[in-house]
Amino acid sequence: MILVLLGPPGAGKGTQAQRIQESRGLTHLSTGDMLRAAVASGSGLGGKVKGIMEAGHLVPDDVIVEMIVDRLAEHGSEGGVILDGFPRTTAQARALEKTLSQRGLKLDRVIQIAVDTDTMVQRIAGRFACEDCGAGYHDTNQPTKAAGVCDNCGGIRFLRRPDDNPKAVRARFEAYEAQTAPLLPYYRSQGLLRGVDGMRTIDDVTAEIEKALDAA
Ligand code: AMP
Repeated sequence: MILVLLGPPGAGKGTQAQRIQESRGLTHLSTGDMLRAAVASGSGLGGKVKGIMEAGHLVPDDVIVEMIVDRLAEHGSEGGVILDGFPRTTAQARALEKTLSQRGLKLDRVIQIAVDTDTMVQRIAGRFACEDCGAGYHDTNQPTKAAGVCDNCGGIRFLRRPDDNPKAVRARFEAYEAQTAPLLPYYRSQGLLRGVDGMRTIDDVTAEIEKALDAA
């Protein structure tokens, strides 16, 4: 199964992708995670995208497409893939179709996680992740069970994203509205789009996504 998760910043795409990856045995590919890894490693790609990401703007399509095509080739998409944060523009959506069709594959489902703006801002402002294993948490919605200790690996160092500040968050919403939201009618017209209510609990949203994946 080739699955795309669409939704504005803070909608819970990463959290849900992690869960669906486990339940369906899919490979989770997050362009945001790949870019953050490139920045952390100090690679040429990282140097190129660091400022763009911190400002909350979209990285140019050619950079993203090259990165994801390489990654799909590396992992082999045949076992199934869940794409989180890609595509984000119509040009990226077309590039995805092309690279899948070259492998005899096609996109099976696009899940839109819908939430309201105020909730998204609150979610983004409170989120953090374990520095060691990457497990995601939130100050109020999903705290660690023991204060300051990662539930998953016992790590005690946590990170907050540099683009989770108010100015960059605003820019990220603007980028979503202007460049990514047009993908909704695009995928709806192809019959691929299913919407889920991202305002519900994390477990409920996962259940809704599972249902949408099982429905024909
Ligand atoms: P994310 O973790 O998906 O919210 O992505 C974080 C940042 O990485 C975004 O605000 C963009 O600057 C960049 N980024 C991630 N995926 C893409 C993409 N598909 N196209 C352009 N920029 C992206």
